[in-house]
Amino acid sequence: MRPLNATIDPQALIHNFKRVKDFAPNSKVMSVLKANAYGHGLIESARALNKSEGFSVLTLGEAIELREFGFNQEILMLEGIYEGYEVAIASKLNINVVLHNQEQLNQILDAKPKKPINVHLKVNTGMNRLGWVPEDLPQVFKVITSTPFIGKVTLMTHFSSADEKEGIASQMKVFNNIQNDHQFDRSVANSAALIRYPESHLEWVRPGIMLYGASPFEDNSINELDLKAVMSLDSQIISIQSLKKGESVGYGSSFVAESPMKIGVVACGYADGYPRHAPTGTPAMVDNVMTSTVGRVSMDMLYVDISKINDVKVGGRVELWGKNVPVDAVAKKAGTVGYELLCSISSAQRVPLRYLDGQN
Ligand SMILES: *Cc1c(COP(=O)(O)O)cnc(C)c1O
Repeated sequence: MRPLNATIDPQALIHNFKRVKDFAPNSKVMSVLKANAYGHGLIESARALNKSEGFSVLTLGEAIELREFGFNQEILMLEGIYEGYEVAIASKLNINVVLHNQEQLNQILDAKPKKPINVHLKVNTGMNRLGWVPEDLPQVFKVITSTPFIGKVTLMTHFSSADEKEGIASQMKVFNNIQNDHQFDRSVANSAALIRYPESHLEWVRPGIMLYGASPFEDNSINELDLKAVMSLDSQIISIQSLKKGESVGYGSSFVAESPMKIGVVACGYADGYPRHAPTGTPAMVDNVMTSTVGRVSMDMLYVDISKINDVKVGGRVELWGKNVPVDAVAKKAGTVGYELLCSISSAQRVPLRYLDGQN
Protein backbone atom coordinates (compact mmCIF):
# COMPACT_ATOMS: atom_id res chain seq x y z
CA MET A 1 0.00 0.00 0.00
CA ARG A 2 1.19 3.51 -0.74
CA PRO A 3 2.56 4.87 2.53
CA LEU A 4 0.85 8.25 2.37
CA ASN A 5 -1.94 9.05 4.82
CA ALA A 6 -3.39 11.82 6.94
CA THR A 7 -3.83 11.06 10.62
CA ILE A 8 -6.48 13.01 12.49
CA ASP A 9 -6.22 13.54 16.24
CA PRO A 10 -9.72 14.00 17.70
CA GLN A 11 -8.23 15.06 21.04
CA ALA A 12 -6.67 18.06 19.31
CA LEU A 13 -10.10 18.97 17.88
CA ILE A 14 -11.51 18.77 21.39
CA HIS A 15 -8.69 20.96 22.72
CA ASN A 16 -9.28 23.58 20.03
CA PHE A 17 -13.01 23.54 20.72
CA LYS A 18 -12.22 24.32 24.37
CA ARG A 19 -10.11 27.24 23.17
CA VAL A 20 -13.16 28.56 21.31
CA LYS A 21 -15.08 28.43 24.59
CA ASP A 22 -12.18 30.19 26.37
CA PHE A 23 -12.33 33.05 23.89
CA ALA A 24 -16.13 33.26 23.64
CA PRO A 25 -17.55 31.75 26.84
CA ASN A 26 -20.99 33.28 26.47
CA SER A 27 -21.73 32.45 22.86
CA LYS A 28 -23.20 29.36 21.30
CA VAL A 29 -20.75 27.69 18.92
CA MET A 30 -21.64 26.75 15.38
CA SER A 31 -18.63 24.70 14.32
CA VAL A 32 -17.96 25.00 10.61
CA LEU A 33 -17.71 21.60 8.92
CA LYS A 34 -17.76 22.62 5.28
CA ALA A 35 -15.32 21.05 2.78
CA ASN A 36 -15.38 17.72 4.59
CA ALA A 37 -14.50 19.54 7.82
CA TYR A 38 -11.60 21.33 6.14
CA GLY A 39 -10.34 17.93 4.97
CA HIS A 40 -10.64 16.22 8.36
CA GLY A 41 -13.76 14.12 7.71
CA LEU A 42 -17.31 15.37 8.29
CA ILE A 43 -18.69 12.75 10.65
CA GLU A 44 -15.56 12.03 12.68
CA SER A 45 -15.01 15.75 13.17
CA ALA A 46 -18.63 16.29 14.19
CA ARG A 47 -18.21 13.51 16.78
CA ALA A 48 -15.18 15.20 18.31
CA LEU A 49 -16.98 18.55 18.21
CA ASN A 50 -20.21 17.12 19.59
CA LYS A 51 -20.41 19.77 22.32
CA SER A 52 -21.05 22.38 19.65
CA GLU A 53 -24.52 23.90 19.81
CA GLY A 54 -24.59 23.89 16.01
CA PHE A 55 -22.80 22.83 12.85
CA SER A 56 -22.55 24.58 9.54
CA VAL A 57 -22.04 22.93 6.19
CA LEU A 58 -22.34 23.93 2.58
CA THR A 59 -24.70 21.45 0.98
CA LEU A 60 -27.96 19.75 1.79
CA GLY A 61 -26.19 16.41 1.32
CA GLU A 62 -23.77 17.17 4.15
CA ALA A 63 -26.62 18.33 6.39
CA ILE A 64 -28.60 15.15 5.70
CA GLU A 65 -25.54 13.04 6.48
CA LEU A 66 -25.18 14.70 9.88
CA ARG A 67 -28.86 14.04 10.64
CA GLU A 68 -28.53 10.43 9.49
CA PHE A 69 -25.66 9.95 11.92
CA GLY A 70 -27.90 11.21 14.68
CA PHE A 71 -26.58 14.71 15.28
CA ASN A 72 -29.48 16.75 16.60
CA GLN A 73 -27.75 20.12 16.93
CA GLU A 74 -28.74 23.09 14.84
CA ILE A 75 -27.42 22.63 11.32
CA LEU A 76 -26.97 25.52 8.93
CA MET A 77 -26.44 25.48 5.16
CA LEU A 78 -23.97 28.35 4.71
CA GLU A 79 -25.10 29.42 1.24
CA GLY A 80 -28.68 28.33 1.76
CA ILE A 81 -30.61 26.42 -0.86
CA TYR A 82 -29.66 26.32 -4.51
CA GLU A 83 -32.92 24.83 -5.81
CA GLY A 84 -36.52 24.95 -4.68
CA TYR A 85 -36.86 21.23 -3.99
CA GLU A 86 -34.35 21.55 -1.14
CA VAL A 87 -36.80 23.58 0.96
CA ALA A 88 -39.12 20.69 1.80
CA ILE A 89 -36.25 18.40 2.80
CA ALA A 90 -34.50 21.04 4.88
CA SER A 91 -37.69 21.93 6.71
CA LYS A 92 -38.55 18.30 7.36
CA LEU A 93 -35.08 17.57 8.81
CA ASN A 94 -35.00 20.84 10.72
CA ILE A 95 -32.04 22.15 8.76
CA ASN A 96 -31.54 25.93 8.85
CA VAL A 97 -30.70 27.80 5.70
CA VAL A 98 -28.91 31.02 4.96
CA LEU A 99 -31.24 33.40 3.14
CA HIS A 100 -29.14 35.81 1.12
CA ASN A 101 -31.21 36.93 -1.85
CA GLN A 102 -34.69 37.43 -3.27
CA GLU A 103 -34.50 34.28 -5.42
CA GLN A 104 -34.06 32.11 -2.32
CA LEU A 105 -36.87 33.92 -0.54
CA ASN A 106 -39.16 33.26 -3.51
CA GLN A 107 -38.14 29.58 -3.55
CA ILE A 108 -39.07 29.25 0.13
CA LEU A 109 -42.40 31.03 -0.28
CA ASP A 110 -43.22 29.00 -3.41
CA ALA A 111 -42.30 25.68 -1.76
CA LYS A 112 -44.76 26.32 1.10
CA PRO A 113 -42.98 23.94 3.50
CA LYS A 114 -45.23 22.07 5.94
CA LYS A 115 -42.98 23.07 8.83
CA PRO A 116 -41.64 26.63 8.88
CA ILE A 117 -37.98 26.74 7.88
CA ASN A 118 -35.46 28.56 10.08
CA VAL A 119 -33.31 31.09 8.28
CA HIS A 120 -30.08 32.94 8.86
CA LEU A 121 -30.67 36.22 7.11
CA LYS A 122 -27.36 37.22 5.64
CA VAL A 123 -26.57 40.90 5.55
CA ASN A 124 -23.95 42.36 3.24
CA THR A 125 -22.06 44.74 5.52
CA GLY A 126 -19.18 45.36 3.13
CA MET A 127 -17.71 42.10 1.89
CA ASN A 128 -19.95 42.28 -1.18
CA ARG A 129 -20.10 38.53 -1.67
CA LEU A 130 -23.50 37.39 -0.39
CA GLY A 131 -26.34 39.06 1.41
CA TRP A 132 -28.94 41.79 1.53
CA VAL A 133 -27.85 45.39 1.70
CA PRO A 134 -29.12 47.13 4.85
CA GLU A 135 -31.62 49.21 2.87
CA ASP A 136 -33.42 45.98 1.84
CA LEU A 137 -33.93 44.83 5.39
CA PRO A 138 -37.12 46.60 6.53
CA GLN A 139 -39.01 45.12 3.58
CA VAL A 140 -37.45 41.64 4.02
CA PHE A 141 -38.18 41.67 7.76
CA LYS A 142 -41.80 42.43 6.97
CA VAL A 143 -42.10 39.46 4.60
CA ILE A 144 -40.25 36.89 6.70
CA THR A 145 -41.98 37.73 9.96
CA SER A 146 -45.44 37.57 8.43
CA THR A 147 -45.19 34.37 6.36
CA PRO A 148 -46.06 31.03 8.01
CA PHE A 149 -43.29 29.34 5.98
CA ILE A 150 -40.38 30.90 7.84
CA GLY A 151 -39.69 30.17 11.51
CA LYS A 152 -36.82 31.40 13.62
CA VAL A 153 -34.69 34.16 12.14
CA THR A 154 -31.03 34.78 12.95
CA LEU A 155 -29.13 37.77 11.60
CA MET A 156 -25.71 37.07 10.22
CA THR A 157 -22.87 38.69 8.34
CA HIS A 158 -19.37 37.68 7.31
CA PHE A 159 -16.16 39.72 7.62
CA SER A 160 -13.74 40.30 4.79
CA SER A 161 -10.70 41.33 6.82
CA ALA A 162 -11.01 40.09 10.40
CA ASP A 163 -7.52 38.59 10.04
CA GLU A 164 -5.94 41.78 8.69
CA LYS A 165 -5.17 45.17 10.04
CA GLU A 166 -8.40 46.67 8.66
CA GLY A 167 -10.25 44.51 11.20
CA ILE A 168 -14.02 44.43 11.56
CA ALA A 169 -14.88 47.94 12.75
CA SER A 170 -16.54 49.29 9.63
CA GLN A 171 -18.59 46.15 9.00
CA MET A 172 -19.51 45.87 12.68
CA LYS A 173 -20.79 49.43 12.57
CA VAL A 174 -23.07 48.67 9.63
CA PHE A 175 -24.30 45.51 11.37
CA ASN A 176 -24.97 47.26 14.66
CA ASN A 177 -27.00 49.92 12.87
CA ILE A 178 -29.55 47.35 11.75
CA GLN A 179 -32.87 48.03 13.40
CA ASN A 180 -33.31 44.70 15.21
CA ASP A 181 -36.75 45.30 16.74
CA HIS A 182 -37.51 41.59 16.73
CA GLN A 183 -34.35 40.85 18.75
CA PHE A 184 -33.23 38.19 16.34
CA ASP A 185 -30.16 36.20 17.45
CA ARG A 186 -26.96 37.34 15.74
CA SER A 187 -24.00 35.45 14.28
CA VAL A 188 -20.96 37.25 12.85
CA ALA A 189 -17.61 35.91 14.09
CA ASN A 190 -15.31 33.63 12.11
CA SER A 191 -12.13 32.37 13.84
CA ALA A 192 -10.17 35.57 13.35
CA ALA A 193 -12.92 37.80 14.75
CA LEU A 194 -13.61 35.35 17.56
CA ILE A 195 -9.96 35.50 18.68
CA ARG A 196 -9.31 39.22 18.25
CA TYR A 197 -12.65 40.98 18.68
CA PRO A 198 -14.83 40.09 21.69
CA GLU A 199 -17.43 42.61 20.48
CA SER A 200 -18.15 40.18 17.63
CA HIS A 201 -19.13 37.25 19.84
CA LEU A 202 -22.88 37.94 20.24
CA GLU A 203 -25.30 34.95 20.50
CA TRP A 204 -23.41 32.69 18.07
CA VAL A 205 -19.83 32.30 16.84
CA ARG A 206 -18.81 30.39 13.70
CA PRO A 207 -15.26 29.06 14.08
CA GLY A 208 -13.70 27.02 11.30
CA ILE A 209 -9.95 27.08 10.82
CA MET A 210 -9.00 27.44 14.49
CA LEU A 211 -10.79 24.17 15.30
CA TYR A 212 -8.48 22.40 12.89
CA GLY A 213 -5.34 23.84 14.44
CA ALA A 214 -4.28 26.29 11.76
CA SER A 215 -3.97 30.00 12.33
CA PRO A 216 -6.33 32.50 10.73
CA PHE A 217 -3.56 35.10 11.01
CA GLU A 218 -0.39 35.52 9.06
CA ASP A 219 1.45 36.89 12.10
CA ASN A 220 0.28 34.56 14.91
CA SER A 221 1.27 30.91 15.07
CA ILE A 222 -0.97 28.24 16.54
CA ASN A 223 1.45 27.95 19.48
CA GLU A 224 0.88 31.59 20.32
CA LEU A 225 -2.87 30.98 20.18
CA ASP A 226 -2.61 27.71 22.13
CA LEU A 227 -4.20 25.67 19.35
CA LYS A 228 -3.14 22.15 18.41
CA ALA A 229 -2.56 20.74 14.94
CA VAL A 230 -5.23 18.14 14.18
CA MET A 231 -4.03 16.67 10.89
CA SER A 232 -0.67 15.08 10.28
CA LEU A 233 0.20 14.35 6.64
CA ASP A 234 2.72 11.53 6.70
CA SER A 235 4.52 9.46 4.11
CA GLN A 236 7.77 7.60 3.58
CA ILE A 237 10.98 7.78 1.59
CA ILE A 238 10.62 5.43 -1.40
CA SER A 239 14.05 6.02 -3.00
CA ILE A 240 17.37 7.58 -2.05
CA GLN A 241 19.49 9.43 -4.60
CA SER A 242 23.05 10.69 -4.35
CA LEU A 243 23.77 13.92 -6.19
CA LYS A 244 27.25 15.08 -7.14
CA LYS A 245 28.03 18.77 -7.16
CA GLY A 246 26.29 20.30 -10.19
CA GLU A 247 23.67 17.56 -10.58
CA SER A 248 19.97 18.32 -10.37
CA VAL A 249 16.83 16.53 -9.23
CA GLY A 250 13.34 16.45 -10.64
CA TYR A 251 11.47 18.23 -13.43
CA GLY A 252 12.95 21.33 -14.92
CA SER A 253 16.24 20.70 -13.13
CA SER A 254 15.28 23.68 -11.02
CA PHE A 255 17.45 22.57 -8.13
CA VAL A 256 21.18 22.04 -8.63
CA ALA A 257 23.38 20.63 -5.87
CA GLU A 258 26.16 22.99 -4.80
CA SER A 259 27.96 20.11 -3.12
CA PRO A 260 27.40 16.34 -2.90
CA MET A 261 23.96 15.62 -1.44
CA LYS A 262 21.69 12.82 -0.41
CA ILE A 263 18.08 13.20 -1.53
CA GLY A 264 15.03 11.30 -0.28
CA VAL A 265 12.19 10.76 -2.75
CA VAL A 266 8.88 10.99 -0.86
CA ALA A 267 5.57 9.37 -1.86
CA CYS A 268 3.45 12.53 -1.98
CA GLY A 269 2.85 14.99 -4.78
CA TYR A 270 0.53 17.67 -5.98
CA ALA A 271 -2.11 15.10 -6.99
CA ASP A 272 -2.35 14.34 -3.26
CA GLY A 273 -2.96 17.97 -2.35
CA TYR A 274 0.63 18.94 -1.55
CA PRO A 275 1.16 22.38 -3.11
CA ARG A 276 3.08 22.32 -6.38
CA HIS A 277 4.23 25.86 -5.68
CA ALA A 278 6.12 24.84 -2.54
CA PRO A 279 9.69 25.89 -3.40
CA THR A 280 13.03 24.41 -2.40
CA GLY A 281 13.35 25.09 1.33
CA THR A 282 9.80 24.21 2.37
CA PRO A 283 10.02 22.53 5.80
CA ALA A 284 9.52 18.77 6.25
CA MET A 285 10.61 16.28 8.89
CA VAL A 286 12.42 13.00 8.20
CA ASP A 287 12.87 10.40 10.95
CA ASN A 288 12.14 13.12 13.53
CA VAL A 289 14.74 15.53 12.15
CA MET A 290 13.70 18.83 10.56
CA THR A 291 14.84 19.35 7.00
CA SER A 292 13.35 20.81 3.83
CA THR A 293 12.24 20.02 0.31
CA VAL A 294 14.37 20.47 -2.78
CA GLY A 295 13.37 20.80 -6.42
CA ARG A 296 9.97 20.86 -8.02
CA VAL A 297 7.04 18.91 -6.57
CA SER A 298 5.88 16.20 -9.02
CA MET A 299 2.38 14.77 -9.36
CA ASP A 300 3.09 11.80 -7.07
CA MET A 301 6.46 12.53 -5.51
CA LEU A 302 8.58 15.23 -3.97
CA TYR A 303 12.17 15.45 -2.75
CA VAL A 304 13.75 16.18 0.62
CA ASP A 305 17.32 16.87 1.60
CA ILE A 306 18.58 14.06 3.83
CA SER A 307 22.29 14.87 3.56
CA LYS A 308 22.56 15.76 7.23
CA ILE A 309 20.35 13.04 8.64
CA ASN A 310 22.07 9.86 9.70
CA ASP A 311 20.97 6.43 8.53
CA VAL A 312 17.90 7.39 6.57
CA LYS A 313 16.64 4.35 4.70
CA VAL A 314 13.92 3.63 2.19
CA GLY A 315 10.85 3.49 4.42
CA GLY A 316 12.10 6.45 6.48
CA ARG A 317 9.20 8.40 7.98
CA VAL A 318 8.33 11.80 6.58
CA GLU A 319 5.99 14.37 8.13
CA LEU A 320 4.90 16.83 5.45
CA TRP A 321 2.81 18.81 7.91
CA GLY A 322 1.44 18.11 11.36
CA LYS A 323 2.55 18.51 14.97
CA ASN A 324 6.17 19.28 14.07
CA VAL A 325 5.88 20.93 10.67
CA PRO A 326 3.19 23.62 10.92
CA VAL A 327 0.80 23.52 7.97
CA ASP A 328 0.91 27.31 8.12
CA ALA A 329 4.68 27.27 7.52
CA VAL A 330 4.29 25.06 4.45
CA ALA A 331 1.44 27.26 3.21
CA LYS A 332 3.45 30.43 3.65
CA LYS A 333 6.33 29.04 1.58
CA ALA A 334 3.87 28.02 -1.12
CA GLY A 335 2.21 31.44 -1.16
CA THR A 336 -1.10 30.24 0.21
CA VAL A 337 -2.91 29.66 3.52
CA GLY A 338 -3.33 26.63 5.77
CA TYR A 339 -7.02 26.51 4.81
CA GLU A 340 -6.19 25.59 1.23
CA LEU A 341 -3.69 22.87 2.11
CA LEU A 342 -5.96 21.15 4.63
CA CYS A 343 -8.89 21.17 2.19
CA SER A 344 -6.81 20.06 -0.76
CA ILE A 345 -6.12 16.68 0.84
CA SER A 346 -9.84 16.06 0.62
CA SER A 347 -10.33 17.27 -2.90
CA ALA A 348 -7.45 15.09 -4.08
CA GLN A 349 -9.34 12.02 -2.80
CA ARG A 350 -6.13 9.99 -2.76
CA VAL A 351 -5.08 10.37 0.85
CA PRO A 352 -6.68 7.92 3.29
CA LEU A 353 -7.75 9.53 6.58
CA ARG A 354 -6.93 7.62 9.76
CA TYR A 355 -8.17 8.53 13.21
CA LEU A 356 -6.24 8.18 16.42
CA ASP A 357 -8.45 6.60 19.03
CA GLY A 358 -10.00 8.89 21.60
CA GLN A 359 -7.62 7.89 24.37
CA ASN A 360 -4.45 9.16 22.71
C1 LIG B 1 -16.01 29.27 6.34
C2 LIG B 1 -16.87 30.22 7.07
C3 LIG B 1 -16.64 30.50 8.43
C4 LIG B 1 -15.42 29.99 9.18
O1 LIG B 1 -14.31 30.79 8.85
P1 LIG B 1 -12.86 30.50 9.52
O2 LIG B 1 -12.04 31.61 9.02
O3 LIG B 1 -12.43 29.18 8.99
O4 LIG B 1 -13.06 30.50 10.98
C5 LIG B 1 -17.54 31.31 9.09
N1 LIG B 1 -18.60 31.83 8.44
C6 LIG B 1 -18.85 31.60 7.12
C7 LIG B 1 -20.02 32.21 6.48
C8 LIG B 1 -17.99 30.80 6.41
O5 LIG B 1 -18.22 30.58 5.11
